Amino acid sequence: MEQPEKTGHLSVDRGRCEGYGMCEQAAPELLHLDEDDVPVIDVAGISPTQKPLAEAAVRACPVAALSVRTASAPA
Ligand code: SF4
Repeated sequence: MEQPEKTGHLSVDRGRCEGYGMCEQAAPELLHLDEDDVPVIDVAGISPTQKPLAEAAVRACPVAALSVRTASAPA
């Protein structure tokens, strides 16, 4: 059975993150903060349906520590 298509990958730059938590509020389905207020990405592959949520989390971060990389299309 084919897996649903994933279009992106959400990642956090832990060196840049200052633990404000806006990303968790914007996209609680995709990530959570651990006990040290560091975001843990719960969903590695972002589906087309989840992409707006991931982009909202990226926009919510005041220090631009989050990014969504678009998966490259298979050759
Ligand atoms: S909003 Fe940005 S700075 Fe705050 S916890 Fe999320 S990634 Fe870190």
